[in-house]
This record gives sequence, structure tokens and C-alpha cells, in this order.
Amino acid sequence: MSFRFTKRIQNTPKSFIREILKVTQDPSITSFAGGLPNPNLFPIEALQDAARETLATAGARALQYSTTEGYVELRAWIASRYSRHGVTVDPDQVLITTGSQQCLDLLGKLFIEKDDEVILERPSYLGTIQAFTMFEPRFVTVDLEEDGPNLDQVESLLATGRPKLFYAVPNFQNPSGLTYSRAKREELGKLLHKYPETVFIEDDPYGELRFTGEHHKPLFAYTGGRSIMLGSFSKITVPGFRLGWMVAPPEIIRLAVKAKQAADLHSSTFNQFVIAEYLKKHSIDDHIAKITACYGSQASAMVRTLEREAPEGVIFTRPEGGMFSWVTLPEGKGSCMDLFNLAIEQKVAFVPGMPFYTDGTGQNTLRLNFSNASEQVIDDGITRLCRCMKDFLK
Ligand code: PMP
Repeated sequence: MSFRFTKRIQNTPKSFIREILKVTQDPSITSFAGGLPNPNLFPIEALQDAARETLATAGARALQYSTTEGYVELRAWIASRYSRHGVTVDPDQVLITTGSQQCLDLLGKLFIEKDDEVILERPSYLGTIQAFTMFEPRFVTVDLEEDGPNLDQVESLLATGRPKLFYAVPNFQNPSGLTYSRAKREELGKLLHKYPETVFIEDDPYGELRFTGEHHKPLFAYTGGRSIMLGSFSKITVPGFRLGWMVAPPEIIRLAVKAKQAADLHSSTFNQFVIAEYLKKHSIDDHIAKITACYGSQASAMVRTLEREAPEGVIFTRPEGGMFSWVTLPEGKGSCMDLFNLAIEQKVAFVPGMPFYTDGTGQNTLRLNFSNASEQVIDDGITRLCRCMKDFLK
């Protein structure tokens, strides 16, 4: 029996990373391939207390169906968190979602018809490529430079009036670890004002995880609130609760609520109550400080080892936050898939860069995750990987 599946699902790529992660399950392999937050930092006891307290005080209310928009207290907490950085958000502009990943699906439903243009950074977050592909857009891309996107390319795309969406990860991007500078934010803000037909989506699951340098305002501040911000509890508390959010102008929230209703009615009531209780009793800033201290040391260990061991011509990003560094090898030396196979023989793994591109390029790039290994393991693993690079580049 052959099932008559849609073209849409048949054309959506499987998560290449999940495939790679299967290879790296072997415990003898040092894996920089994952993208997981460090589980040693999960606030398990505090969440246990919060769960107990929730059941004791909210009882059935925490276990009942609830509103699609999300738990009012949690929406208010999210809105007020933005005010720390001088950004005004009304709690009514916040929609709680099932991970920020769900926002990508909802926004696809709201905005993308077949063959609509969508601007992505080059490289871009794989989960977005996957979620948007379901709606059969035409991806157009802008190069990501050290300090943000190439603005000439951005302007020439915006000027056509065609792109419906521009999706970006301006802080410690997954996969590249790169961050938009203040100057580029200002310039991009002006472009988004000049070409208001294109809706800017700012996905920011890592923004709070800055371990060095100064915080920059979100693009939302530069667009006067006419863009969309996505956020997540995954990297600042735990990903398993699947709680994220969207901040957007009211017209967008209204339709996103409709799309979410159709998708899953609402996100877990219990998880929302537990997180809200946890946030009431504990300082999230202290918890984030713990995470950034840890990831900061791990990132330094990775950059230090790359500086010492990487062969000539290999360049890599020096992230100021987040969980990833990005390596670019000289072009024309073959595919990082071959380097991946060499590295697996030497018991070290990474994610080849190609799946983060929508145009089949990126063969000479790779992503390294530093949030899940000790400094010693990073030093050993990256040293071995650099030896593989030397052999590969010979
Ligand atoms: N956006 C980006 C850039 C991410 O890296 C991730 C997590 N890998 C997500 C969105 C989705 O996160 P979540 O659904 O857990 O909030």
C-alpha cells in the first residue's frame, strides 16, 4: 500500500542533525555535534519544589485546559523582562507557545504561501529551514558577516518588495555563534522602516546567555515594535517543558492565537504554572549567571585550543555568548562530510555546515557545540579534530 502523502511533507528534509546524532551516540566519541543545553545546570530541585507548590496551591487549575494565549502571570513576567533593556512590551502582545519552535510553524501558517519569498541568513537555523519548508517558500539569503548581515544584500532584497518575511537570529546565532553589532542593528532598523512590507522575525533563544561584551537592544526596539520577537525558556531553564513565546503587534498575535488553537489548543498548563512559580521564588538572573559562567569557560577553552591547534587558513568565530562556534576551512579542499568521517575514526564529532544553507553551499564549514563538555575534554577533542583538519587539508 502506498500512502498518498503531500508533496509538502515529502519535500521537507529530515533533520540531518538527528541523523548525525545517531552516529555520535557511541560513548567513546567526543561529540561537539549536539545542540543541547548542559543538563548539569538544570535547576531540578527548584523545579521539584515549584511543581509540588503548584499542585498544592493551584491544584486542579494547573491541570485543567487553559487559554490559548497562555498563563497571564507568565505573559506578564515575559513582558516585564524586556523592560530591563528599555523595550516596552504589553503582556497582551505575548503568546506562550510550545517551545519557540512552534512560533516558526505558526508564522509559516500566517505568512507563507507557496513560492513566497523569505529572507534567511546564510547560514541559518536548521529548525527554521525545516519548519518553513513545509509551506513551500522560495528562500533568498543574505551573507552573515562578523557583525551581522550584509546590508547591501538586505537592501537589494527588501527593495524588490517581494520578501514577506526576514528571519534572523541576531544574538549568538545557531549555527555560527555570530552577533549583530549595535551599528548594524541601527542600519538594519532604518532599512526595516524604509521597507515595512517585509516582516522581520527576531529569534532570540540565546540572548540572555552573554558571557562577555555588552548587551545590545533587540531589533524590535529599532522597528518601534513593528516586528516579531521569539523567546524561549529552553536555554535559561529547561527545554523539556517546551515553553517559548512570541511577541508581536496585536494583529499578528490575534491570528497566531487562531493558528495555535487549531494546532494544540494551548501549551501545557501545568508546565506554565510550574515555571511561573519557579520564577516567583528564584532569581533567574542568578541562574543565568551560573549558566554563562560555565558556557563562558567552555567557549574560552574551545577558542583557545582552536587558536593553538587549527591549521593555517582555518577561521573560526569567537562567540560572546550562546552555545556554538563556527569553523570555515579554505574553499576547494573537499566536503566537511569527508572530514566528518575522518573525525569519527578519531572519535570526535561535529555537524557539517551544509544543512544550514539552502543553496547547497557551505561544504567547507562546520558547527561546534561547546556547552556539553568539560574544558579538558574540549581541549583534547579539538586538538584531535585539528589534526584531522591538517590531514584533510594536505
Ligand atoms: N531557534 C533557534 C535559533 C534555536 O537554536 C532553537 C533550539 N535549538 C529554537 C529556536 C527552538 O527552541 P525551543 O523550541 O526549545 O524554544
